[in-house]
Amino acid sequence: MLDFSLSNKETDIIEKYRDFTERWFKPNALKYDKLAEFPWEVVKAAYDEKIMNGPMPEKFGGNGFSLYEGALASEEMGAGCIGIGICIDASTLALTPLFLAANEKQQKKWFGRIVEDKGVAAYCLTEPNAGSDVAGIKSAAIKHGDKYILNGHKRFITNAEVSSFMTVFALTEPDRGARSLTAFVVPSDAPGIEIKPRLQKMGQKASVQNELIFTDVEIPAENKLGEEGHGFLIAMKTFDRTRTGVAALSVGGARSAYEVSRDWAKKRIQFGQPIASQQGVAFMLADMATDVEVARLITHKAAWAYDTQQKGFSLLSAMSKLRASDIAMKVATDAVQVMAGDGYSTDFGIEKIMRDVKLCQIYEGTNQVQRVVISKAILK
Ligand SMILES: Cc1cc2nc3c(=O)[nH]c(=O)nc-3n(C[C@H](O)[C@H](O)[C@H](O)COP(=O)(O)OP(=O)(O)OC[C@H]3O[C@@H](n4cnc5c(N)ncnc54)[C@H](O)[C@@H]3O)c2cc1C
Repeated sequence: MLDFSLSNKETDIIEKYRDFTERWFKPNALKYDKLAEFPWEVVKAAYDEKIMNGPMPEKFGGNGFSLYEGALASEEMGAGCIGIGICIDASTLALTPLFLAANEKQQKKWFGRIVEDKGVAAYCLTEPNAGSDVAGIKSAAIKHGDKYILNGHKRFITNAEVSSFMTVFALTEPDRGARSLTAFVVPSDAPGIEIKPRLQKMGQKASVQNELIFTDVEIPAENKLGEEGHGFLIAMKTFDRTRTGVAALSVGGARSAYEVSRDWAKKRIQFGQPIASQQGVAFMLADMATDVEVARLITHKAAWAYDTQQKGFSLLSAMSKLRASDIAMKVATDAVQVMAGDGYSTDFGIEKIMRDVKLCQIYEGTNQVQRVVISKAILK
């Protein structure tokens, strides 16, 4: 029989992350939204309380979460503050190529380094001329003896300026294009890396992004992840895992927007009664509650499909990111509408959720790109 109940371990994960986000995310959400600074104090506390590096193996200091367990954790982080949550989840994104393709020695070294630093990593795929079209990457890492020499230009790289190291995708044989795309680990303080000023942006302001210029950066050959030419596959396999994380953050953001606006509507009196007793408002709240359930269900199904390696898990991963982030955008927009002036003001953090969830429709492949992935799969 189909069973949606939670195990003790899953309940503990939710409670642990909810407790942490109540103490560290929610009280700091508006502060970091204003400051637009990386929330180091929260990340350090997250290390102290074993919140960081959820999916990383336990033997290397992570939590060894399945994707489903990671989704439970990410929903709580999204409900607390998507901007702070993505500082943690973007590091997980950067560690995923190591998780998928690194050998034992590399995992020991780099997972060990991130835990020792109580730090974060950055995932470097996007370039000025290669956004949705990953095959357009031009950065090149050319082999010279026991080193690769990296030259190129990346942009929109989350955590770049605060990272301990980066996972960088570059061509080893530019003539062969994306067929030679290869993944490397590069320490962020390696000579030849120029980190440009931080991106100014609409939402998720606690998280920082930079453009990067690589000029003759030396990468020891032992920092190559997997084989030369396997980079495209590693990047796509990474997204198969991490898109459910974006979906789960979106569910959390939607849940918060719904709950805050529901509670507000129960208290706000107009025409002599709570605004929630007006059917026009109550029906909006009913749709929001239903949509949050829908978003969570598809996210959990995608995570389960990955964990149990069901056929089509990749398709479900794209569907979960698409639907959950679209729902989050709609729910957050409706929450602003329910709360009207108070929703639009910065006092309740609802307009912030609306700005934050917008980005979930854009990164890790825009929602148009998810539709490209889904339509190709269902029409082939
Ligand atoms: C705040 C932020 C953080 C980010 N963090 C990272 C990170 O850590 N690492 C990283 O590597 N990248 C990161 N990115 C990059 C992000 O993944 C890209 O912005 C995204 O993939 C889209 O690329 P683009 O912005 O170049 O848009 P473009 O690819 O130029 O797309 C422009 C528009 O065209 C549409 N479009 C493109 N191709 C198609 C198509 N075939 N069919 C239909 N529509 C299409 C898109 O959906 C979009 O609406 C981040 C971006 C932002 C804004």
